[in-house]
Amino acid sequence: TSEFQGKHVTVAGLGVSGLPAAKALHARGAIVTAVNDGDDARAREQAAELEALGITVRLGDGATLPEGTELIVTAPGWQPGKPLFRAAEEAGVPVWGDVELAWRLRGPDAAPWLAVTGTNGKTTTVQMLAAILKAAGLRTAAVGNIGVSVLDAVLGDEQYDVLAVELSSYQLHWAPSLRAYSGAVLNLAPDHLDWHGSMDAYAADKGRIYEGNKVACVYNVADPRTEDLVREADVEEGCRAVGFTLQAPAVSQLGVVDGILVDRAFVENRQKNAQELAEVSDVDPPAPHNIANALAAAALARSFGVPAQAVRDGLRAFKPDAHRIAHVADIDGVAYVDDSKATNTHAAEASLAAYEPIVWIAGGLAKGAEFDELVANSAKRLRGVVLIGADRALIREALARHAPEVPVVDLDRTDTGAMLQAVTEAKRLARPGDTVLLAPACASMDMFTNYNQRGDAFAAAVRELGA
Ligand code: ADP
Repeated sequence: TSEFQGKHVTVAGLGVSGLPAAKALHARGAIVTAVNDGDDARAREQAAELEALGITVRLGDGATLPEGTELIVTAPGWQPGKPLFRAAEEAGVPVWGDVELAWRLRGPDAAPWLAVTGTNGKTTTVQMLAAILKAAGLRTAAVGNIGVSVLDAVLGDEQYDVLAVELSSYQLHWAPSLRAYSGAVLNLAPDHLDWHGSMDAYAADKGRIYEGNKVACVYNVADPRTEDLVREADVEEGCRAVGFTLQAPAVSQLGVVDGILVDRAFVENRQKNAQELAEVSDVDPPAPHNIANALAAAALARSFGVPAQAVRDGLRAFKPDAHRIAHVADIDGVAYVDDSKATNTHAAEASLAAYEPIVWIAGGLAKGAEFDELVANSAKRLRGVVLIGADRALIREALARHAPEVPVVDLDRTDTGAMLQAVTEAKRLARPGDTVLLAPACASMDMFTNYNQRGDAFAAAVRELGA
């Protein structure tokens, strides 16, 4: 019998993680109560699905701790300060996330985990990693905060040799006993601070990815806080710190020499002091931040013994997801690039660093961000700026402080036609050789359903202008 037999477990939050968690626990004999804050149509549908199995569901009441609860399994996004968790703490009830549950149920038995976190680049890196592992002939999948939940992956019928796992800071917060084979923190910039409470708390949750690593803790040489997190982690004996850098690598690092990605951490031939992996041009797009992603993916794959050839083949096979620095069209010598996924300033700064001169389309929901650093660091690349969305004044003010000479078009409209006007204005500002870059540095929900719809609107507007 399972350790969950007869145990009273409360599943907090329906949805992508809650549904499989409730089912898995129920199937193992737990007495499950699922609670959810909202009771909209979707929640009711999911509730009906669980109730059909005999699971108790409470909609519209995610605050009170059900009587007799011995364990809470929460959706990752639920904030630690919620009343439910305060009640749990008082009652001495442990709280796990879906990742913790997956780990407790299967641990590394399903497959070793190569885990990735960071403020930006997680999805891209995990997909590159999966492509590299596949090129090495390994059975693998990109899972976690990326479509397929870890729980579904480890409990499903598919057999894996190794998993490429994307973990958000929320998931790591709720996964205290996770022990990855190797882990990577790609970068750290202020994000989700309202949830975590402070930058230190956010960093500490990200740093959890290194706890108990077996072979390598992969860090970003250009982001010293990631190396600090490695130092603070408790790892298995023999586990190494492996850095990645866009410069020539030191020993125990991967880096770039003369346009070649090289590995000085996992050298196959002891006669040599570096292993060539791939060319910068094998990385799509070959923007600096994306080369960094490729190096991080390569480091994790190499820690698992993947040969150099597979790194190159995997990187060549990799195609980026939509709205991540996607080249839409060239019109009259101007390139139009959709990076709608740049929903925070750190991401936007990375894509602005990849082009020059730029007509920048930005704005949306700022989520409490400040734009001074982004604007100051990017000012010299800007031909002009077109601002859209609710919080565009924040960016306009930063531009006035740090780039007063750059022309700014401020669009005071949030209707569906606004993107066409924004692209029209951008086209007017651009000269041949320029790049019109949608990298909003903001969330999209003031004007669009999500970043996908925002990027689609941009691409449609570009095509309309080009036609
Ligand atoms: P995540 O899964 O962490 O949100 P994605 O791979 O989906 O990351 O990329 C999100 C956005 O972040 C991209 O559109 C790009 O603008 C930016 N980005 C990607 N990789 C990096 C990186 N290493 N550093 C900074 N920004 C990045």
